[in-house]
Amino acid sequence: NKKRMSKAQAVFTLTPIRPGIGGGNHNSPAHMPAELVEELKSLPHVPKSCVNLVRILGKGSFGEVFEGLACNLPRIGPKSLRVAVKTLKTGYSEDDRVKFLKEAILMNNFNHPNIVKLLGVCFDTEPHYLVLELMEGGDLLTFLRSSRPNDTMPSQLSLKDLVGMMVDVGRGGAYMEQRKHVHRDLAARNCLISTRDPQLRVTKIADFGLARDVYSNDYYRVNGQDFLPLRWMSPESTQDGVFSSKTDVWSFGILLWEIMTLGQLPYPGMHNMQVMSFVRNGGHPENPTHCPTEIFEIIEQTWITDVEKRPSFAALLVQLEALKLRPEFIDDSPFPPSPADHGSHTN
Ligand code: ADP
Repeated sequence: NKKRMSKAQAVFTLTPIRPGIGGGNHNSPAHMPAELVEELKSLPHVPKSCVNLVRILGKGSFGEVFEGLACNLPRIGPKSLRVAVKTLKTGYSEDDRVKFLKEAILMNNFNHPNIVKLLGVCFDTEPHYLVLELMEGGDLLTFLRSSRPNDTMPSQLSLKDLVGMMVDVGRGGAYMEQRKHVHRDLAARNCLISTRDPQLRVTKIADFGLARDVYSNDYYRVNGQDFLPLRWMSPESTQDGVFSSKTDVWSFGILLWEIMTLGQLPYPGMHNMQVMSFVRNGGHPENPTHCPTEIFEIIEQTWITDVEKRPSFAALLVQLEALKLRPEFIDDSPFPPSPADHGSHTN
Protein backbone atom coordinates (compact mmCIF):
# COMPACT_ATOMS: atom_id res chain seq x y z
CA ASN A 1 0.00 0.00 0.00
CA LYS A 2 1.29 3.40 -1.02
CA LYS A 3 0.46 4.86 2.36
CA ARG A 4 2.25 2.25 4.41
CA MET A 5 5.92 3.00 4.40
CA SER A 6 7.53 3.39 7.77
CA LYS A 7 6.29 5.06 10.88
CA ALA A 8 6.58 8.82 11.01
CA GLN A 9 9.67 9.79 13.00
CA ALA A 10 9.72 13.53 13.42
CA VAL A 11 7.50 15.33 15.87
CA PHE A 12 7.16 19.04 15.29
CA THR A 13 6.10 21.74 17.66
CA LEU A 14 3.63 24.05 16.01
CA THR A 15 0.98 26.27 17.41
CA PRO A 16 -2.39 24.49 17.65
CA ILE A 17 -4.52 24.39 14.55
CA ARG A 18 -7.17 27.02 14.28
CA PRO A 19 -9.90 27.32 11.68
CA GLY A 20 -8.80 28.76 8.34
CA ILE A 21 -9.96 32.06 6.94
CA GLY A 22 -11.74 30.23 4.15
CA GLY A 23 -14.33 28.59 6.36
CA GLY A 24 -12.61 25.29 7.03
CA ASN A 25 -13.90 24.99 10.55
CA HIS A 26 -16.21 22.12 9.68
CA ASN A 27 -12.97 20.20 9.44
CA SER A 28 -12.08 20.57 13.09
CA PRO A 29 -11.62 17.26 14.87
CA ALA A 30 -14.01 14.98 16.63
CA HIS A 31 -16.84 17.11 17.80
CA MET A 32 -20.26 16.79 16.28
CA PRO A 33 -22.37 19.96 16.37
CA ALA A 34 -26.14 19.59 16.49
CA GLU A 35 -26.62 20.71 12.89
CA LEU A 36 -24.44 17.82 11.71
CA VAL A 37 -26.66 15.38 13.56
CA GLU A 38 -29.53 16.85 11.54
CA GLU A 39 -27.50 16.46 8.31
CA LEU A 40 -26.95 12.78 9.06
CA LYS A 41 -30.65 12.24 8.54
CA SER A 42 -30.52 13.73 5.05
CA LEU A 43 -27.82 11.31 3.83
CA PRO A 44 -28.85 8.77 1.14
CA HIS A 45 -29.47 5.84 3.51
CA VAL A 46 -29.67 2.37 1.92
CA PRO A 47 -30.23 -0.98 3.61
CA LYS A 48 -27.19 -3.22 3.70
CA SER A 49 -29.06 -5.91 1.79
CA CYS A 50 -28.69 -3.67 -1.30
CA VAL A 51 -24.91 -3.70 -1.21
CA ASN A 52 -22.75 -6.74 -2.01
CA LEU A 53 -18.99 -6.64 -1.58
CA VAL A 54 -17.11 -8.15 -4.51
CA ARG A 55 -13.37 -7.65 -3.94
CA ILE A 56 -10.96 -5.58 -1.94
CA LEU A 57 -9.61 -2.44 -3.63
CA GLY A 58 -7.40 -0.95 -0.98
CA LYS A 59 -6.93 -0.03 2.60
CA GLY A 60 -7.94 3.33 3.96
CA SER A 61 -7.33 4.73 7.38
CA PHE A 62 -10.87 3.85 8.54
CA GLY A 63 -10.84 0.33 7.17
CA GLU A 64 -10.87 -1.63 3.97
CA VAL A 65 -12.26 -0.30 0.69
CA PHE A 66 -14.11 -2.76 -1.56
CA GLU A 67 -15.56 -2.92 -5.01
CA GLY A 68 -19.22 -3.81 -4.68
CA LEU A 69 -22.52 -4.10 -6.48
CA ALA A 70 -25.37 -1.95 -5.25
CA CYS A 71 -29.01 -1.68 -6.21
CA ASN A 72 -31.80 0.71 -5.22
CA LEU A 73 -29.45 3.61 -4.60
CA PRO A 74 -31.50 6.77 -3.99
CA ARG A 75 -30.00 8.76 -6.89
CA ILE A 76 -29.62 5.85 -9.30
CA GLY A 77 -32.79 3.78 -9.04
CA PRO A 78 -33.33 0.01 -9.02
CA LYS A 79 -30.61 -0.97 -11.50
CA SER A 80 -27.51 -2.64 -10.14
CA LEU A 81 -24.36 -0.51 -10.23
CA ARG A 82 -20.68 -1.23 -9.60
CA VAL A 83 -19.57 0.96 -6.70
CA ALA A 84 -16.76 1.43 -4.19
CA VAL A 85 -17.57 0.72 -0.54
CA LYS A 86 -15.56 2.32 2.24
CA THR A 87 -15.98 0.42 5.50
CA LEU A 88 -15.48 1.57 9.06
CA LYS A 89 -13.39 -1.09 10.74
CA THR A 90 -14.79 -2.82 13.78
CA GLY A 91 -13.28 -1.68 17.05
CA TYR A 92 -13.24 1.92 15.80
CA SER A 93 -12.84 4.79 18.19
CA GLU A 94 -15.51 7.45 18.65
CA ASP A 95 -13.13 9.85 16.94
CA ASP A 96 -12.93 7.56 13.87
CA ARG A 97 -16.68 7.27 13.73
CA VAL A 98 -17.22 11.02 13.82
CA LYS A 99 -14.64 11.54 11.05
CA PHE A 100 -16.27 8.81 8.98
CA LEU A 101 -19.68 10.44 9.36
CA LYS A 102 -18.26 13.86 8.61
CA GLU A 103 -16.71 12.55 5.42
CA ALA A 104 -20.14 11.30 4.36
CA ILE A 105 -21.80 14.62 5.19
CA LEU A 106 -19.15 16.64 3.36
CA MET A 107 -19.27 14.48 0.24
CA ASN A 108 -23.04 14.59 0.27
CA ASN A 109 -22.93 18.38 0.07
CA PHE A 110 -20.84 18.37 -3.10
CA ASN A 111 -22.08 17.83 -6.60
CA HIS A 112 -19.33 18.26 -9.14
CA PRO A 113 -17.88 16.09 -11.94
CA ASN A 114 -14.38 16.37 -10.42
CA ILE A 115 -15.31 15.40 -6.86
CA VAL A 116 -15.95 11.76 -6.00
CA LYS A 117 -19.67 11.29 -5.32
CA LEU A 118 -21.33 9.72 -2.32
CA LEU A 119 -24.09 7.38 -3.52
CA GLY A 120 -25.26 5.90 -0.27
CA VAL A 121 -24.58 5.14 3.38
CA CYS A 122 -25.37 1.96 5.33
CA PHE A 123 -25.44 2.65 9.03
CA ASP A 124 -28.03 0.01 10.00
CA THR A 125 -25.52 -2.64 11.08
CA GLU A 126 -21.78 -2.78 11.57
CA PRO A 127 -19.46 -2.44 9.78
CA HIS A 128 -20.80 0.87 8.51
CA TYR A 129 -20.46 1.56 4.77
CA LEU A 130 -20.00 4.62 2.60
CA VAL A 131 -21.05 3.76 -0.96
CA LEU A 132 -19.07 5.84 -3.47
CA GLU A 133 -18.85 6.08 -7.22
CA LEU A 134 -16.32 3.50 -8.40
CA MET A 135 -13.03 4.98 -9.60
CA GLU A 136 -11.56 2.05 -11.46
CA GLY A 137 -8.22 3.66 -12.23
CA GLY A 138 -7.32 3.86 -8.52
CA ASP A 139 -5.42 6.71 -6.94
CA LEU A 140 -3.59 9.30 -9.02
CA LEU A 141 -0.19 8.83 -7.37
CA THR A 142 -0.02 5.10 -8.10
CA PHE A 143 -1.35 5.76 -11.58
CA LEU A 144 1.34 8.38 -12.32
CA ARG A 145 4.12 6.16 -10.98
CA SER A 146 2.94 3.12 -12.91
CA SER A 147 2.89 5.19 -16.13
CA ARG A 148 6.59 6.12 -15.95
CA PRO A 149 8.90 5.10 -18.76
CA ASN A 150 11.24 2.20 -18.13
CA ASP A 151 13.82 0.19 -20.09
CA THR A 152 11.22 -1.51 -22.21
CA MET A 153 8.40 1.03 -22.42
CA PRO A 154 8.04 4.74 -23.07
CA SER A 155 5.95 6.86 -20.69
CA GLN A 156 2.31 5.86 -20.86
CA LEU A 157 1.22 9.48 -20.54
CA SER A 158 1.43 12.54 -22.78
CA LEU A 159 1.45 16.26 -22.01
CA LYS A 160 -2.17 16.27 -23.14
CA ASP A 161 -2.99 13.68 -20.43
CA LEU A 162 -1.10 15.61 -17.76
CA VAL A 163 -2.70 18.95 -18.65
CA GLY A 164 -6.08 17.16 -18.60
CA MET A 165 -5.44 15.97 -15.04
CA MET A 166 -4.35 19.45 -13.94
CA VAL A 167 -7.52 20.99 -15.33
CA ASP A 168 -9.68 18.28 -13.72
CA VAL A 169 -8.23 18.84 -10.25
CA GLY A 170 -8.30 22.61 -10.81
CA ARG A 171 -12.03 22.47 -11.60
CA GLY A 172 -12.70 20.46 -8.44
CA GLY A 173 -10.54 22.90 -6.46
CA ALA A 174 -12.33 25.96 -7.87
CA TYR A 175 -15.66 24.39 -6.94
CA MET A 176 -14.55 23.77 -3.36
CA GLU A 177 -13.16 27.30 -3.14
CA GLN A 178 -16.48 28.68 -4.34
CA ARG A 179 -18.28 26.54 -1.73
CA LYS A 180 -15.81 27.87 0.88
CA HIS A 181 -14.69 24.37 1.68
CA VAL A 182 -11.07 23.94 2.74
CA HIS A 183 -9.78 20.45 1.90
CA ARG A 184 -6.43 20.65 3.77
CA ASP A 185 -5.01 17.55 2.12
CA LEU A 186 -4.86 18.03 -1.65
CA ALA A 187 -2.23 15.61 -2.94
CA ALA A 188 -1.98 13.06 -5.74
CA ARG A 189 -2.57 10.22 -3.25
CA ASN A 190 -5.99 11.74 -2.49
CA CYS A 191 -7.21 12.00 -6.07
CA LEU A 192 -8.78 9.10 -7.91
CA ILE A 193 -8.92 8.21 -11.61
CA SER A 194 -12.23 7.11 -13.13
CA THR A 195 -10.62 4.68 -15.60
CA ARG A 196 -7.24 4.04 -17.20
CA ASP A 197 -8.80 4.48 -20.66
CA PRO A 198 -7.29 7.78 -21.91
CA GLN A 199 -10.45 8.71 -23.83
CA LEU A 200 -12.69 8.42 -20.77
CA ARG A 201 -10.31 9.19 -17.93
CA VAL A 202 -11.43 11.82 -15.41
CA THR A 203 -9.47 12.80 -12.30
CA LYS A 204 -11.48 13.58 -9.18
CA ILE A 205 -10.72 14.85 -5.70
CA ALA A 206 -11.47 12.38 -2.92
CA ASP A 207 -10.58 11.83 0.67
CA PHE A 208 -12.43 14.27 2.81
CA GLY A 209 -11.99 12.02 5.80
CA LEU A 210 -9.15 13.83 7.52
CA ALA A 211 -8.19 10.57 9.14
CA ARG A 212 -4.44 10.41 8.75
CA ASP A 213 -2.58 7.19 8.23
CA VAL A 214 -0.23 7.13 11.19
CA TYR A 215 2.15 4.80 9.37
CA SER A 216 2.69 7.10 6.44
CA ASN A 217 5.79 9.23 5.98
CA ASP A 218 3.60 11.84 4.31
CA TYR A 219 1.97 12.88 7.58
CA TYR A 220 3.40 14.37 10.76
CA ARG A 221 1.89 14.55 14.16
CA VAL A 222 1.68 18.00 15.64
CA ASN A 223 1.44 18.50 19.39
CA GLY A 224 -0.37 15.22 19.78
CA GLN A 225 -3.11 16.48 17.46
CA ASP A 226 -3.50 16.00 13.75
CA PHE A 227 -1.13 14.31 11.37
CA LEU A 228 -0.17 16.91 8.81
CA PRO A 229 1.02 16.49 5.21
CA LEU A 230 4.13 18.63 5.68
CA ARG A 231 5.50 18.49 2.12
CA TRP A 232 2.18 19.73 0.71
CA MET A 233 1.80 22.55 3.23
CA SER A 234 2.24 26.29 2.72
CA PRO A 235 4.63 28.24 4.94
CA GLU A 236 1.73 29.86 6.81
CA SER A 237 0.20 26.44 7.56
CA THR A 238 3.43 25.02 8.97
CA GLN A 239 4.01 28.23 10.93
CA ASP A 240 0.62 29.17 12.33
CA GLY A 241 -1.52 26.10 11.71
CA VAL A 242 -3.77 28.22 9.48
CA PHE A 243 -5.64 26.51 6.65
CA SER A 244 -7.60 28.36 3.98
CA SER A 245 -8.50 28.11 0.30
CA LYS A 246 -5.15 29.83 -0.34
CA THR A 247 -3.28 27.10 1.54
CA ASP A 248 -5.20 24.58 -0.59
CA VAL A 249 -3.87 26.51 -3.63
CA TRP A 250 -0.31 25.93 -2.39
CA SER A 251 -0.99 22.19 -2.01
CA PHE A 252 -2.59 22.19 -5.46
CA GLY A 253 0.73 23.51 -6.83
CA ILE A 254 2.58 20.63 -5.13
CA LEU A 255 0.01 18.28 -6.67
CA LEU A 256 0.66 19.82 -10.12
CA TRP A 257 4.37 19.26 -9.48
CA GLU A 258 3.61 15.61 -8.63
CA ILE A 259 1.76 15.32 -11.94
CA MET A 260 4.65 16.81 -13.95
CA THR A 261 7.19 14.50 -12.25
CA LEU A 262 4.94 11.43 -12.61
CA GLY A 263 4.65 11.08 -8.88
CA GLN A 264 7.94 12.07 -7.28
CA LEU A 265 8.02 12.81 -3.58
CA PRO A 266 8.28 16.62 -3.22
CA TYR A 267 11.65 17.92 -2.00
CA PRO A 268 13.56 14.74 -2.83
CA GLY A 269 16.60 14.18 -0.65
CA MET A 270 15.43 16.55 2.10
CA HIS A 271 14.48 15.50 5.59
CA ASN A 272 11.27 16.80 7.08
CA MET A 273 13.04 19.36 9.26
CA GLN A 274 14.91 20.61 6.19
CA VAL A 275 11.67 20.87 4.21
CA MET A 276 10.04 22.85 7.00
CA SER A 277 12.82 25.42 7.28
CA PHE A 278 13.32 25.54 3.50
CA VAL A 279 9.64 26.37 2.94
CA ARG A 280 9.52 28.83 5.82
CA ASN A 281 12.48 30.62 4.24
CA GLY A 282 10.74 31.08 0.91
CA GLY A 283 11.66 27.76 -0.73
CA HIS A 284 9.49 25.67 -3.05
CA PRO A 285 10.04 22.72 -5.43
CA GLU A 286 12.15 23.20 -8.53
CA ASN A 287 10.95 23.13 -12.12
CA PRO A 288 10.73 19.43 -13.00
CA THR A 289 12.99 18.25 -15.84
CA HIS A 290 11.18 18.58 -19.19
CA CYS A 291 8.33 20.64 -17.70
CA PRO A 292 7.45 23.32 -20.27
CA THR A 293 8.04 26.87 -19.01
CA GLU A 294 4.40 27.84 -19.65
CA ILE A 295 3.27 25.12 -17.23
CA PHE A 296 5.83 25.89 -14.56
CA GLU A 297 4.93 29.58 -14.70
CA ILE A 298 1.41 28.61 -13.64
CA ILE A 299 2.58 26.17 -10.95
CA GLU A 300 5.02 28.72 -9.48
CA GLN A 301 2.23 31.21 -8.77
CA THR A 302 0.74 28.78 -6.25
CA TRP A 303 3.87 29.20 -4.13
CA ILE A 304 3.76 32.99 -3.74
CA THR A 305 4.44 33.59 -0.04
CA ASP A 306 2.13 36.58 0.25
CA VAL A 307 -1.33 35.03 0.60
CA GLU A 308 -2.99 38.13 -0.85
CA LYS A 309 -0.88 37.87 -4.02
CA ARG A 310 -1.23 34.08 -4.35
CA PRO A 311 -3.93 33.50 -6.99
CA SER A 312 -7.24 31.78 -6.32
CA PHE A 313 -8.21 28.43 -7.86
CA ALA A 314 -10.58 30.33 -10.15
CA ALA A 315 -7.74 32.49 -11.51
CA LEU A 316 -5.41 29.50 -11.96
CA LEU A 317 -8.11 27.48 -13.65
CA VAL A 318 -8.51 30.11 -16.37
CA GLN A 319 -4.78 29.75 -17.13
CA LEU A 320 -4.90 25.94 -17.05
CA GLU A 321 -7.95 25.78 -19.31
CA ALA A 322 -6.12 28.05 -21.78
CA LEU A 323 -3.21 25.56 -21.87
CA LYS A 324 -5.60 22.86 -22.95
CA LEU A 325 -6.33 24.77 -26.17
CA ARG A 326 -2.69 25.27 -27.21
CA PRO A 327 -1.49 22.97 -30.00
CA GLU A 328 1.74 22.00 -28.16
CA PHE A 329 -0.31 20.60 -25.29
CA ILE A 330 -2.63 18.60 -27.49
CA ASP A 331 0.42 16.52 -28.40
CA ASP A 332 -0.08 12.79 -27.77
CA SER A 333 3.58 11.75 -27.68
CA PRO A 334 4.96 10.22 -24.47
CA PHE A 335 5.94 12.59 -21.64
CA PRO A 336 8.63 12.74 -20.49
CA PRO A 337 10.20 11.87 -23.84
CA SER A 338 12.33 8.72 -23.98
CA PRO A 339 16.10 9.34 -23.63
CA ALA A 340 16.57 8.99 -27.41
CA ASP A 341 14.12 11.84 -28.03
CA HIS A 342 15.65 14.22 -25.51
CA GLY A 343 15.68 17.73 -26.75
CA SER A 344 12.83 17.44 -29.19
CA HIS A 345 10.27 18.45 -26.53
CA THR A 346 12.30 20.69 -24.30
CA ASN A 347 13.76 23.21 -26.71
P1 ADP B 1 -8.77 6.85 3.61
O1 ADP B 1 -9.06 8.23 3.18
O2 ADP B 1 -9.76 6.34 4.56
O3 ADP B 1 -7.35 6.64 4.04
P2 ADP B 1 -8.82 6.26 0.84
O4 ADP B 1 -9.97 7.06 0.38
O5 ADP B 1 -7.44 6.77 0.56
O6 ADP B 1 -8.96 5.91 2.34
O7 ADP B 1 -8.96 4.81 0.19
C1 ADP B 1 -7.95 3.86 0.26
C2 ADP B 1 -7.75 3.23 -1.11
O8 ADP B 1 -8.97 2.62 -1.54
C3 ADP B 1 -7.42 4.24 -2.20
O9 ADP B 1 -6.03 4.47 -2.33
C4 ADP B 1 -7.97 3.56 -3.44
O10 ADP B 1 -7.04 2.62 -3.91
C5 ADP B 1 -9.19 2.84 -2.91
N1 ADP B 1 -10.42 3.65 -3.11
C6 ADP B 1 -10.96 4.57 -2.27
N2 ADP B 1 -12.07 5.12 -2.77
C7 ADP B 1 -12.25 4.53 -3.98
C8 ADP B 1 -13.23 4.68 -5.03
N3 ADP B 1 -14.26 5.53 -4.92
N4 ADP B 1 -13.09 3.91 -6.13
C9 ADP B 1 -12.06 3.06 -6.27
N5 ADP B 1 -11.10 2.88 -5.33
C10 ADP B 1 -11.19 3.60 -4.20
